[in-house]
Amino acid sequence: MIPSLFRGHWYLSHYSPICALMQIPGHIDPVPLPAKVTPREDGRVDLIGLSVAEIRDVLVEAGLDEKQGKLRSKQLFHWMYHRGIDDFSIMTDMSKTLRPWLAERFVIGRPEIVEAHLSEDGTRKWLLRSADKQDYEMVFIPDEDRGTLCISSQVGCTLNCRFCHTGTMRLVRNLTPGEIVGQVMLARDALGEWPKGVMDFADEEEAENTKEYNQAYKSDGRLLTNIVLMGMGEPLYNFDNVRDAMKVVMDGAGLALSRRRITLSTSGVVPMIARAGDEISVNLAISLHAVNKETRDEIVPLNRKYSIEELLQACADYPGSSNSRRITFEYVMLKDKNDSDEDARELVNLLRQYDLPAKVNLIPFNPWPGSAYECSTPERIKAFSKIVFDAGISAPVRTPRGRDIMAACGQLKSASEKKSRAELDRLAEEKQAALG
Ligand code: SAH
Ligand code: SF4
Repeated sequence: MIPSLFRGHWYLSHYSPICALMQIPGHIDPVPLPAKVTPREDGRVDLIGLSVAEIRDVLVEAGLDEKQGKLRSKQLFHWMYHRGIDDFSIMTDMSKTLRPWLAERFVIGRPEIVEAHLSEDGTRKWLLRSADKQDYEMVFIPDEDRGTLCISSQVGCTLNCRFCHTGTMRLVRNLTPGEIVGQVMLARDALGEWPKGVMDFADEEEAENTKEYNQAYKSDGRLLTNIVLMGMGEPLYNFDNVRDAMKVVMDGAGLALSRRRITLSTSGVVPMIARAGDEISVNLAISLHAVNKETRDEIVPLNRKYSIEELLQACADYPGSSNSRRITFEYVMLKDKNDSDEDARELVNLLRQYDLPAKVNLIPFNPWPGSAYECSTPERIKAFSKIVFDAGISAPVRTPRGRDIMAACGQLKSASEKKSRAELDRLAEEKQAALG
């Protein structure tokens, strides 16, 4: 039987499961390529995104015995996800012969940075590129008491919500667990947030060579505290990879982010909501955006498949939601479309009818060239918010962040597609400075 790690995924459909087990030609002592890892041109296998068990499997496939595989996978997991190290040569608890052996066959990769922007309000935005040249976005939003990383789950999105720019992109593919976890790794790199700890050394020379990584431990006061799956794509249409990636991110031996600090946003893929609760158990956000069938059918076309009633029932049944762990309902404010007093009252009715522990997030619409809608006026948004708030439901208006760097969903990618080669070269030079 083919181990699960090697089963084909649709986005690698040109690799049959059998193909995935084939060896990479032209490489010394090649390692079988796990199907959920995007192939690299140099033939090495990227370990980012793999769990301890999966790392063990690839090590054993590459020739280590079971006992070694188990030990080394645990060490690698710690180096990769706890320490943020991407260089085998400084893994001082591995033998000196093992380190080059690993480096010949594996990499601990990061997505390539195509663009990096820093907004005047502190928001950072990156346009990233996968090993097979697909571009996707990531945004970091610092606040006084937290720092939220907004990550993508797909390149583009199949769902075509009418107000969303990502939905207009033609090219869509699921991101791999490595490409999802890679976003968190890259953000930690850019924010300089890896702990540095004291390790045991084989000899003095080694201690000297790795001095930089061996200073006093510092893991407190982190900037990156929360993750939201609100970038490009519909996370519940890439369920397995999102789940596997979040499990790695939550693993206590690595990045160790609490599930209470992770929020998954869905436009309403009803059949997957219960599974998200059971298997990932993170906070849930629902892109509701409208309270009657006619309007929601228009702006969130998935509503034609799964009704508002089915969606709210799935929310009522969501495991783990409670008054202390409320479900967020996102509501984009579109002028004369979904923003009347009547809409606000109906929103309150629905949340009460399903007895939902809810908070409402009112999002001012962020227009993009060619969009069919306008943002509601500030007075309208205020009046809408007051009705919901007076009914005892929290309804803050989300402050737009990073507008000067086009930090809204899907905007950076399409802007970059219009840029000239010269502009891209200049941006590539600037990116190091912005990251510093
Ligand atoms: N696909 C998922 C998650 C990504 S979208 C979802 O739809 O929930 C993240 C959030 O950004 C959603 O609430 C989405 O409706 C909102 N959004 C998309 N385009 C927007 C725009 N132009 N202005 C304001 N909010 C937008
Ligand atoms: Fe996709 Fe979400 Fe955009 Fe809708 S709002 S098109 S589901 S990314």
